[in-house]
Amino acid sequence: MTVRTDLREVAERAEHELADASAAEALAWTAETFGDSFIVASNMQDAVLIDLAYQAKKDIDILFLETGYHFAETLGVRDAVDLVYPEARIVVAEAEQSVADQEAEFGLLNKTDPGRCCFLRKVVPLQRTLENYDAWVTGVRRVDAPTRATTPIVQWDERNGLVKVNPIAPWSDDEFDAYIAEKGILQNPLVGEGYLSIGCAPCTSKPLPGQDARSGRWAGQAKTECGLHG
Ligand code: SF4
Repeated sequence: MTVRTDLREVAERAEHELADASAAEALAWTAETFGDSFIVASNMQDAVLIDLAYQAKKDIDILFLETGYHFAETLGVRDAVDLVYPEARIVVAEAEQSVADQEAEFGLLNKTDPGRCCFLRKVVPLQRTLENYDAWVTGVRRVDAPTRATTPIVQWDERNGLVKVNPIAPWSDDEFDAYIAEKGILQNPLVGEGYLSIGCAPCTSKPLPGQDARSGRWAGQAKTECGLHG
């Protein structure tokens, strides 16, 4: 408990001190402050965040939520990340039930109750994994969706009880695309087909013209977030 209280103070101080930090500065601070006790989350849409973190520290842990419902292309990016960033370690977090067992018990929850499906296959495995760390690093950006417009670079993650670092929160789409182009960063081939925000296959479609990138997630349903980011 003492440690967690200290972590909250670290997060609250850094939220101000690193408010205008670059991604590289935020990640250098993360590596220096937390050592081996941070993990970089990736949905394997691209390897931008992984590449940035790898420059700050080679032997990073990378969190991949294996829901069992991913596109084959997403699993391909995961395997490619393993080759391109050999000193990093991919930590696979899975639900307690296999997809087959869940569907046998509940049917297609992603159709009937996607909130529960995400809770079982994403939120719980995430929380269980984060218990082993003092901080996690995410690729959340303010331009992703209106709900993310005020995302700070460092914040206290109340629900999970650790520090949350969002190094590329201020990045525009142009900055993001330029980083991929200039550095030749791995990117999920589905992006080129128009899938601008890639989650599980049953819940991902292409956004309509003029809509934000995340509008293709759970299209036609009230749900807009998987619950990973509060
Ligand atoms: Fe289930 Fe869809 Fe959530 Fe994936 S995104 S965990 S398939 S509801």
